[in-house]
Amino acid sequence: MGGIDSELIKDGWFRELSEKSFPGQGLALKVKKVLHHSKSEFQDILVFESATYGNVLVLDGIVQATERDEFAYQEMITHIAMFAHNHPRRVLVIGGGDGGVLREVIKHNCVETATLVEIDKTVINLALKYLPGMACAFGDSKVQVKLQDGFEFLRAAAISPDQKYDIIITDSSDPEGPAEAFFQKEYFELLHNALSEDGIVIAQASENVWLNLDYIRNLIDSAASVFPVAKYCYTTVPTYTSGQLGLVVCAKNPRANVHRAIRKPTAEEQSQLRYYNEQIHSAAFVLPTWAHHKIYKE
Ligand code: SAM
Repeated sequence: MGGIDSELIKDGWFRELSEKSFPGQGLALKVKKVLHHSKSEFQDILVFESATYGNVLVLDGIVQATERDEFAYQEMITHIAMFAHNHPRRVLVIGGGDGGVLREVIKHNCVETATLVEIDKTVINLALKYLPGMACAFGDSKVQVKLQDGFEFLRAAAISPDQKYDIIITDSSDPEGPAEAFFQKEYFELLHNALSEDGIVIAQASENVWLNLDYIRNLIDSAASVFPVAKYCYTTVPTYTSGQLGLVVCAKNPRANVHRAIRKPTAEEQSQLRYYNEQIHSAAFVLPTWAHHKIYKE
């Protein structure tokens, strides 16, 4: 193991423990080598090489991405929104400093600009160094990076109708920390304002049905108080505590059918995807009975 001490690593195992977010349970990954540990202006940042999941990015003690399973998250949070839209040209990513979502966004030839608003430059720099498979799109000519708080960016932006975004992806960390504002009604109002009339928003929900159904229901209620379409779906990621992560999908157009791939992936597009396909797009919205009742009160 590398020589950097971290409170988060004991006896050669990284442990993700949070009584608030994951009461009574946790996740452990065997560490081969600590590659980086520091406190940036915004958060505690740990990068380590794991025994079986490749390099791992951890922010404030919570796993953000591992090289082995990151595609399950990046592909679903990106392509569910992108393929549910007829012709996404302007895409905004809030957070996403590891670059994985940008990598997925620019797989769509119809995209003209992809803007990423990340609060913490250190995350981008570390991704370029230790997660090159994720950070490979930062140099693309369609990509613009703004180092800024995403909430403030949206609050300050006077976006003219022709500058509105077709897709906005909130690829943030969890609510305890710099991403707290992304889980509240005011944020959904800012998203609504920044979105084109047929635009789609997708956001990581920070929770899953096994952890906190009340939280998910409140989040969907907040989203539904702003957007006529507000749905919950999920992806499976073994290195997120209890193995899955929820996504909230919203549309401005009440007739939008976000459950379906409106545009079918071409054979060339599909050949670049390892997790997403048309069938899993629709299946991701199908919930177990008890969770469906609780989230949608039906
Ligand atoms: N896939 C991850 C997950 O949910 O576990 C999230 C990806 S991680 C790259 C999230 C990024 O959001 C971090 O780089 C963090 O710095 C950034 N972030 C957090 N709060 C932010 C804010 N207020 N504005 C912009 N970016 C923010």
